[in-house]
Amino acid sequence: MTTEIERLARLIEESERIVVFTGAGISTESGIPDFRSPGGVWSRYDPEDFTIQRFVSSTAARKAFWQMSAEGGLLADAKPNPAHHAIADLYRLGKLDCIITQNIDNLHQKAGVPEDRVLELHGNMRRVVCLTCRSRFPLPEMVQKAEEVAGIPDCPGCRGILKPDAVLFGEALPVVTLREATRRAQKCDLCLVIGSSLVVYPAAYMPVYAREAGASLAIVNLTSTPLDYDASVCIQGKAGEIMPRVMEMVQ
Ligand code: NAD
Repeated sequence: MTTEIERLARLIEESERIVVFTGAGISTESGIPDFRSPGGVWSRYDPEDFTIQRFVSSTAARKAFWQMSAEGGLLADAKPNPAHHAIADLYRLGKLDCIITQNIDNLHQKAGVPEDRVLELHGNMRRVVCLTCRSRFPLPEMVQKAEEVAGIPDCPGCRGILKPDAVLFGEALPVVTLREATRRAQKCDLCLVIGSSLVVYPAAYMPVYAREAGASLAIVNLTSTPLDYDASVCIQGKAGEIMPRVMEMVQ
């Protein structure tokens, strides 16, 4: 494995415009379960409860969301782990073009990567959005309001329904972010995938676009992915253990 770690370090040294593509696997070492590993989210919750149709039509579903948020939710206390910090080091070295992430946990920003370098394909749970006027509000502010009204707060501007600003099942991905992510993937010289099964589309097209445009591909993931065959370096293991070792070797 050392050889592979060295090869990834060399690849990073040779690259100037790196796009890092991350999925739920980068955050499991921060205590946030992924979706598909044994014990992951889908072995404990019903995906039907996370559809936009259910959220809009069911007061009970919305109440459950606000209650869960008031209790701190799954993500509130999570802290970035060494893999998030390693990517922040890439930014400080001036090599990171951007992170394209499927995660909604805000951990790249918490690790010190500026907001405008993180393209969130599936949104972010720290905000809520009004389904009528599209205004966005910080979640903690609205959680406080939920406690004041002892139930479900509505939009302070237009009284519309407030929804987590993460993409629920049945919702489209944010078009502008998706377009920008595609453009950046097509312009990078290295696409580094960390902690993604690469089976959720259209997000998983990003490394494919990068390869088609001539970039190198590197993958760090616990299990194999459908794109391993096309990667210059492929390391199977824990991102929080591998990425700091890689960055230690980067000159
Ligand atoms: P996924 O659950 O499909 O795959 C995660 C991958 O990470 C798996 O292949 C697994 O083997 C690997 N993995 C697990 N722990 C790892 C570790 N320590 N180091 C390296 N690899 C590890 O997740 P996905 O590909 O991101 O796509 C599924 C969806 O999950 C996305 O839509 C995303 O929005 C959502 N999601 C996000 C979070 C979060 O924000 N943290 C959590 C759960 C799910």
